[in-house]
Amino acid sequence: MTFSDFTLLRPRTLPDALEMLEGHHRAHAGEGARATRILAGGTDLLPSMRQKLFEPEHVLDLRRIEDLKGIRETEQGIEIGALTTLHEIEHSELLRAQYPLLVEAAKTVASPVLRNMGTIGGNICLDTRCLWYNQSLAWRKSCSFCIKKDGDLCHVAPGGTKCWAAFSGDTPPALLCLNAEIEIASASGTRRIPLHDFYTGEGDNHRKLQPNELVTRVILPHASAGYRGVYRKLRIRGSIDYPLAGVAVAVKRSNGHIEDLRIAITAVNPAPTLVKGIDSLLNGGTASEQIAESIGELAARTAKPLTTSALTPEYRREMIRVFTKRAVLHLLATDH
Ligand SMILES: Cc1cc2nc3c(=O)[nH]c(=O)nc-3n(C[C@H](O)[C@H](O)[C@H](O)COP(=O)(O)OP(=O)(O)OC[C@H]3O[C@@H](n4cnc5c(N)ncnc54)[C@H](O)[C@@H]3O)c2cc1C
Ligand code: SF4
Repeated sequence: MTFSDFTLLRPRTLPDALEMLEGHHRAHAGEGARATRILAGGTDLLPSMRQKLFEPEHVLDLRRIEDLKGIRETEQGIEIGALTTLHEIEHSELLRAQYPLLVEAAKTVASPVLRNMGTIGGNICLDTRCLWYNQSLAWRKSCSFCIKKDGDLCHVAPGGTKCWAAFSGDTPPALLCLNAEIEIASASGTRRIPLHDFYTGEGDNHRKLQPNELVTRVILPHASAGYRGVYRKLRIRGSIDYPLAGVAVAVKRSNGHIEDLRIAITAVNPAPTLVKGIDSLLNGGTASEQIAESIGELAARTAKPLTTSALTPEYRREMIRVFTKRAVLHLLATDH
């Protein structure tokens, strides 16, 4: 599989990158398809371009922009540049001490080589996945394409008009549990939003990101430091694979009582999703096997898997229940 022709742009500064994005956005306004694609580590973008899922005229390579790299402590919390690799996150002592859940989730992404290249920004912005979509052009053409690219039907939910491709990144559920925010920049300025507001829940247009914008930073608030956490994922090959179901659980305890418990799931919906309604099950801050079971069931009800992935929706939903229950029991077994 070869690439279609494109022009590679390699800005050295963030303002230059944003000017380039703005210029191309204006030149191609109204054309619908995105004229420029952003390249961070390229571990997802480049295979997708070979499959002709994206055929951009320009590829904007961010890798020379030093401003977007690194982890640092600020008054508001810890800032992680969008170009920071998952390897750096995995090995950051600061993050390990304060936000161990994020480190644990980052460690499960793909393989060591891919984590050396793959970035946190790319993981947050990762395209949604589907068995009918992540295929070669010839394969997709033989099935008359689908809503997400080049077609007007859905093979997963025939008769519908919505795309259900699953968001399959590992770090966003951990970031949701940590109440992370992201900074988004364009030539006209920056804005900061909670990560949970970034995703639309539509498989074919899953991010609220304008064509002239890019993600520049992730911000972890001080208030989420010290939460203990567990990330569990279901995958076919333990050594290298996207999640087919994933659960992140973060807990804060004091004097044996649960002060706060947050759970988010991935790979079973078109967006990573926070599980709502946990507080009402918590029985005044103490937990039992029965409560862990109820929380597991609540997480399973939040999951809406369809036949977008290699394993059945029933099995993936059941594993959300099992992982959640086990993670809650594991976290509560040790007193803190
Ligand atoms: C074999 C294989 C296994 C994998 N397994 C996993 C896995 O287990 N879990 C997992 O989460 N991922 C997995 N991945 C996907 C990928 O490696 C990671 O998600 C990685 O973090 C993507 O980061 P990247 O920097 O390489 O992104 P890129 O490929 O450069 O970009 C990904 C997408 O995000 C956009 N983008 C990137 N950065 C920005 C930004 N700053 N602002 C706006 N848009 C941006 C790009 O335009 C593109 O659409 C796997 C990939 C492969 C090839
Ligand atoms: S869910 Fe439907 S529209 Fe979306 S990628 Fe899969 S087959 Fe295509």
